Amino acid sequence: MTTTNRATALEAISKRIVPTNDAPHDGDAPIDYYGKDVFNASAIRKYLSRGAAEKLLATIQDGAKLDPSVAGDVAHAMKDWAISRGATHFTHWFQPMTGSTAEKHDSFLDLNDQGEAIMTFSGHNLVKSEPDASSFPSGGLRCTFEARGYTAWDPTSPAFVKRNPHGATLCIPSIFCSYTGQILDKKIPLLRSIQVLKQSVARFMLAFNAAPEHVTITLGAEQEYFLIDREFYLRRPDLIQTGRTLFGSPPAKHQQLEDHYFGAIKPRVINFMAEVEEELWRLGVPAKTRHNEVAPAQFELAPTFEELNLAVDHNMLTMEILKRVAERNGLVCLLHEKPFAGVNGSGKHNNWSVAYGAQNLLDPGPDPRHNLVFLAFLTAIIRAVDMHGDLLRTTTVTAGNDHRLGANEAPPAVVSMYLGERLSETLEQIEQGVNEEYRANPKQLFVGLQTAPSITSDDSDRNRTSPLAFTGNKFEFRMCGSSQSCAGFNMFLNVAVAESLDFLSTQIDRFKDSETFDADLEKLLGKILARHKRIVYNGNNYTSSWLEEAARRGLPNLATALDALEPLRSKANQKLMKDYDVFTEEEMESRYEIFVEEYLRKIQIEGEVALDVASNLILPVALEEYGELVKALKSAQEIGLECGQSSLRETANAIGKRADELQHNLKALAEFKEITPENYQEYINITKRIREAVDSLETLVDDRKWPLPKYREMLFIY
Ligand code: ADP
Ligand code: MG
Repeated sequence: MTTTNRATALEAISKRIVPTNDAPHDGDAPIDYYGKDVFNASAIRKYLSRGAAEKLLATIQDGAKLDPSVAGDVAHAMKDWAISRGATHFTHWFQPMTGSTAEKHDSFLDLNDQGEAIMTFSGHNLVKSEPDASSFPSGGLRCTFEARGYTAWDPTSPAFVKRNPHGATLCIPSIFCSYTGQILDKKIPLLRSIQVLKQSVARFMLAFNAAPEHVTITLGAEQEYFLIDREFYLRRPDLIQTGRTLFGSPPAKHQQLEDHYFGAIKPRVINFMAEVEEELWRLGVPAKTRHNEVAPAQFELAPTFEELNLAVDHNMLTMEILKRVAERNGLVCLLHEKPFAGVNGSGKHNNWSVAYGAQNLLDPGPDPRHNLVFLAFLTAIIRAVDMHGDLLRTTTVTAGNDHRLGANEAPPAVVSMYLGERLSETLEQIEQGVNEEYRANPKQLFVGLQTAPSITSDDSDRNRTSPLAFTGNKFEFRMCGSSQSCAGFNMFLNVAVAESLDFLSTQIDRFKDSETFDADLEKLLGKILARHKRIVYNGNNYTSSWLEEAARRGLPNLATALDALEPLRSKANQKLMKDYDVFTEEEMESRYEIFVEEYLRKIQIEGEVALDVASNLILPVALEEYGELVKALKSAQEIGLECGQSSLRETANAIGKRADELQHNLKALAEFKEITPENYQEYINITKRIREAVDSLETLVDDRKWPLPKYREMLFIY
């Protein structure tokens, strides 16, 4: 390979060691350092006066309105605590519509009247900050001439300290809105939806005469990701620029032997995982499960579930830490939904439930047939998903997730729910007005070993193909992409369920004190189920027969990304969001604009990178080899060699044919004027044809000359 200045630079960069920041020694066992970088209840009690501490904790734990007079005390305590953890700076940490987190640091350092250095952080600094909002996506909500935007402290998610190689920063989880108070982020609507659902759950439980309890919406987000060696990554301009490989022909062996899933974890990877866990535990993120996933080089991390707003923040942090720790280990963590064609992509499973005090409302208990609160709650969710499933689909749209949904590795674009046979039977009984004993059916499993402990089977099997599966005591939504924030999906689900609960509560109130409450309720549930049960499907969602069946049932199949964004503009959905004070119509429209623009921009960036790499890296190599073959053939003809001429000719022809195809499609792409909602599919098709030509050339061109690391290397050598 020729050595250019750039190649030398790359070589040097790839050897660079990323510095680390050794955290203060808080002990070696997780139990000693868990949550030490969080301004949590124990830090609050230690650094604040008792009165102020109790006020702050009441806000964090019970959602009480924060007494503004304590902000100054809290700021002071937070600063002292953060400095004790090595922090020199603070930042409002927020979640704009870019999909990632944003931060702008200010140091605690200031000068007093004598010009001496002091460390300051006021109540004002804590509560509000004013980043220039003009460079964040707003979907037309905010013109650049009124660029003021505000971030404001979200006291329900604890502040934390984020380490960098040379210090640390106090991060204050924050919301982000425009000068006029319009929503510019993902946290405000999530918090509003939580507020709304909590109220509706409280009202619903009151209809059952339940004693008041604290309502908690819970989320456990399973995070999938790929790891590859950083040396390969640095030599793949497509990965660097788009997060996925735009080229690469599948290796002979990929995931067909199913030998990676749950396989023994390689030492380098487990070392990485352990470092990730240590950082997460310090930040109070309860990382719980780690394992190899289906595709080679693919892994998963799942935390113990937590309160929804906190869990979303923690997932954002998890993604950041996965990337950072990977780099420190000479690896790169790919969070893209489909970094490699031909092997499974990565999703993020959203496990959602609601707790009323200590009671999980989705826990069927031993006798679900007679657990009326459970049945009513479940019915409300079925109704909500049937009525607003299109909104849930909307939250899964990204250019990356397009490659995953419906590709026999993730649910299709049709939203449906899986309940399992037994629960479906129970609901059928309600609908038919039949009352049979619930026959719990855990079987004793016989494994044929005297020494094995006895095992009983679960009451229902799993269904991995359903978009929204009931998994025993929670719903698991599997359509979200690995790189996405969980805020979108959970926000819409919360509001849709809140509306359904309110609908039920209103009906229940009519016969609340009746002697025949149970029968009346069952009749009501039966009526709702009859109307909305079409959303329940227990079969295999990956089959084409399901898509036909779904069409017969009238369930929307929003197959393309831009169609799937339309529900943001539907009157019914806009009304729902407005009635519950989560979004105005204008804000819903702005989200539509943002997502369409982001989607098209990403498609265009992919096209331009493909054009660049194929024109400047691939075609020259292919043509060089073609030229050499032609020269060799000519010499062979001149000296009249008996053998080899036909193989030279055939190889030259094969390479030439592919090079022509490539050239032809590169030209078409270069001439493509402007990418629009009407023509983007054609744009994608051209980039697909470019890929086909390049992937075919990869199998023809001399391996020693191929400029890009190959799948068989990236996916297996790490
Ligand atoms: P799986 O076999 O699908 O990986 P797990 O039992 O590992 O299922 O759980 C997956 C996720 O679901 C975990 O993050 C777990 O904490 C979460 N989870 C469990 N119970 C609840 C609940 N009540 N609410 C929300 N998430 C939950
Ligand atoms: Mg799961």
